[in-house]
Amino acid sequence: MFCENCGKQIPEDAAFCTHCGAKQPGISTTKPAIDSLQKPQPPRPILPSQPAQAAEGVDLITMGQYLIMFLIMAIPIAGIVMLFVWGFSSETGPNKKNFARAYLIMMAIAIGVGILISIVMAAIMASIMGSLYYY
Ligand SMILES: [Zn+2]
Repeated sequence: MFCENCGKQIPEDAAFCTHCGAKQPGISTTKPAIDSLQKPQPPRPILPSQPAQAAEGVDLITMGQYLIMFLIMAIPIAGIVMLFVWGFSSETGPNKKNFARAYLIMMAIAIGVGILISIVMAAIMASIMGSLYYY
């Protein structure tokens, strides 16, 4: 480059002329600002909004209601009675009704399997006892 004042050749990065000492306006002695070197940040993806809560008031069973149901079901006889009430009462919401019915079916299967095992065990015991009789 050439000095703007005297026109002589001076180094490209000179802030002042090496011959006359005039300041060179077009030269920036400082390095480019760091900000300009940074790549523009990609825009953050907008998080999808939370899914809408289930409609209230239909027959939603809250956690507290579930806790009460499990506590009642823990009572041996009252639990079964309440399951029948919940399962076949017209006042019970469909969710609670289905839950109670499913639970009753599960209990019926468990009882049925239990009875079946008892019969098989009784038969095995009877055969053992019968065979012992011959000794
Ligand atoms: Zn000069």
